[in-house]
Amino acid sequence: MRLPSILYPVEQAFRYLYGALPFSWRAGAQYRRLRRFLSEAQWWDAERIREWQTERLGWMIRYAYENVPGYRHLYEKAGITPADFGTLEDLPAFPLLEKSFVQTDIRAFTSRSVSPRNLTYLTTGGSTGVPVGFYHTRVNRWMEDAFMHAGWEWGGWIPDQKTLTLRGWFQGTPKRFFWYNPLRRELHLSTYYLTVETYPQYFQIAKQFAPLFIQAYPSAMTFFSRLILERGDAGVLQPRVIFLASETIYPWQRELIARAFPTARIFAHYGHTEQAGLGHWCEYIDQYHFWPFYGYLELLDSQGNPVPLGQVGEIVVTSFWNYGTPWIRYRTGDLGILAGNFCSACGRNFPILSNVQGRIQEFLISQYGRLVSFTALNVHNDLFDHVWQFQFYQDTPGKVTLKLLPRSEFSKNDLNRIQQEMSSKLGEDFSLETVCVEQIPLTPRGKFKVIEQKCSLDWIKETIE
Ligand SMILES: [Zn+2]
Repeated sequence: MRLPSILYPVEQAFRYLYGALPFSWRAGAQYRRLRRFLSEAQWWDAERIREWQTERLGWMIRYAYENVPGYRHLYEKAGITPADFGTLEDLPAFPLLEKSFVQTDIRAFTSRSVSPRNLTYLTTGGSTGVPVGFYHTRVNRWMEDAFMHAGWEWGGWIPDQKTLTLRGWFQGTPKRFFWYNPLRRELHLSTYYLTVETYPQYFQIAKQFAPLFIQAYPSAMTFFSRLILERGDAGVLQPRVIFLASETIYPWQRELIARAFPTARIFAHYGHTEQAGLGHWCEYIDQYHFWPFYGYLELLDSQGNPVPLGQVGEIVVTSFWNYGTPWIRYRTGDLGILAGNFCSACGRNFPILSNVQGRIQEFLISQYGRLVSFTALNVHNDLFDHVWQFQFYQDTPGKVTLKLLPRSEFSKNDLNRIQQEMSSKLGEDFSLETVCVEQIPLTPRGKFKVIEQKCSLDWIKETIE
């Protein structure tokens, strides 16, 4: 909701005053308590973590069974009760939660014990474009901040510093594409209006602001970095850390961002709007350390069995903090590889995800059901040098449209080369059409997708092995 304009300066002034106080003071006692707990518990041994998780999981299952009709129904159908949970090994006996269950009947999956006043409605972009709606409570606010800040600290984050964001939270308008939030000292730049034409304004504002940190979608940051390199502005902005999240990060993107921001450390985390699972890179290793106090992680194959270490599985999570819409054995649709349950570099007994391969829908599907990830297409050479952005679009297995946003020097020759090279990389079970477009739309959340996959997710799951 937009505030009437007369109130806006007053509200903004209030934010400035209040924002002058340290964040940890403003965030409240629960936030501070959880931060203290995490700073100690992150060093616990495996046994102590298991004990903590077992108790918490048992509690969550009982809570869901007693307060959430959808879970009670699922468990009754499976002939199981909370009493059947004693150790972590008992968890697989409890049914998995599909996104579609919540999509179909959100009321059934909302807790009866939380007052509606304490529920906030949120949605996440569904795999096939159908959003999943769910509820958070006030707990989610301080809990999320506490975990995020604890993880970011491994990457060099410090509170109350100037941060620039290039994410989807703020949309703006073509004329007002930025907004400053003094409460968090965050300057939000809209990803929606960043174009070749508006770049000079974006860069000027960012330069004036001189942020210590940047938070961004990898795709938006890649595009911004491309423009920076193109205009010879590399190294002018000198953030200490660039925090990336919400999308798969491809090596070529990291390389490009590093060239545009040579002084910055690139640091990433894996998380999602549901807030059921979260992992950060650590001080030393660029792999996701999954927080064992945030949620319980399982990596499963399409039959629901655990996958061995080193193999791709679907990320299935159980949240310890969601009381509005509990997530118990929730199938995220994201794929990851479990490298181990311990990081020898930092010494934390956390599950280590060596790779979050992105969402199942970040694959292209051939006419025979073969899956091709974007990573496998391996675009490292100069093939796309005369293109600002590109996107693969698919709504039928075997048929792919490659959309190109061409630069001024783009020629027929480029088009032919791209068509030829990409066709041969995709293989004979694909037919590829390459088209030039004037714009590649972002998702409703302001994300740019390299692959816009419209084929049915369930169909893909059956063929993933
Ligand atoms: Zn580590």
